Amino acid sequence: MNSWSKSDVAHMQRAIEIGYLGEGFVAPNPMVGCVIVAEDGRIIGEGWHERFGEAHAEVNAHRSVQREDLQLLSKSTWYVTLEPCNHVGKTPACTALIEDIKPKRLVIGVLDSNPDVIGGGSNRLKHAGILVESGCLMDQIRWQNRRFFCNATMRRSYVVLKWAQSRDGFMDPRAAAERTYGSGGRPITSPDAAPLSHQWRSQEMGILIGVETALVDEPALTVRYGNGKSPQPIVIDPNGRLPKSHPLLMRPDSKQTIRVTTGTGLATENTCFWNPEEGLQLLMERLWQQHEISSLLVEGGSSTLKHFLQESVWDELKVWTAPQDLKRGLEAPIWPDSAVAPPYATNFGSAGSDRWSWGVHHRLGNE
Ligand SMILES: [Zn+2]
Repeated sequence: MNSWSKSDVAHMQRAIEIGYLGEGFVAPNPMVGCVIVAEDGRIIGEGWHERFGEAHAEVNAHRSVQREDLQLLSKSTWYVTLEPCNHVGKTPACTALIEDIKPKRLVIGVLDSNPDVIGGGSNRLKHAGILVESGCLMDQIRWQNRRFFCNATMRRSYVVLKWAQSRDGFMDPRAAAERTYGSGGRPITSPDAAPLSHQWRSQEMGILIGVETALVDEPALTVRYGNGKSPQPIVIDPNGRLPKSHPLLMRPDSKQTIRVTTGTGLATENTCFWNPEEGLQLLMERLWQQHEISSLLVEGGSSTLKHFLQESVWDELKVWTAPQDLKRGLEAPIWPDSAVAPPYATNFGSAGSDRWSWGVHHRLGNE
């Protein structure tokens, strides 16, 4: 085990922090930050992966170095949250850039999880004569990129379940049978809760609902607060009940809804074939492997959420609780015993009179 100096930790912490600026924009890529530090301890370059398909953190950090500081690069230390890539993808390999510059030292947070390339980038740079060390703030970086690591190791979409409930545990004052199609949603929370709810949407790549919720609430599922991206809408509609005129199928933006429907054959861009008997685990594998949805927010309804909980196919829970009692209506799911507080974050808060709780599956919690 390496023991890291205070300055190593502080610089890697900074790299993590700037990596978060790409949140919601880089998926299915991981968030990555890079900090370049001169021999005298001064930060001379910083960069992060800003958008999917665009330059990597190392390239952006290198570009940010002022002309007069370029001569300091050969004795610099580079802090990168993830192992530099060693393959030419949408952009040239970052290892080639670092090899050219040949800084004195490279500190990597987490090595690439892809078994085919693990250590490939760092070994190449060691051979080039650079002092390479890895594992600095590893757990924190794994948490930052939990969606990416779920995709890489479990080969499925990362799942965040979200709902809002009254203090006494109902999601809608109307029972299931009273919820007529097109009657609209009845928000339990106040408008104060909306900005954070929309931020949660912008953090995931997809947003999934069941067909009942689509037909009753006719939700837009877009991000209307802040500057985050709207996620890709996905509707589980096994029997094809969603009419062509449904608002989710007539969106003005390019985000055409993916319909999950029974049947066989090859998936198309907007169709995913799946039978409920196959289980949600398989659906999450298909949404990742065939549609590259790295993470999704499940926003209901009650029965869809309960299926995810029963089949234990979830990674996080985000739940609003409003202060009023409804005494009747559609029952909310029960917060499972297997949920624990998230690491490196607070697990509760409030907006106006509504409170939120955040839990993660125990496999993601603190040891
Ligand atoms: Zn790269």
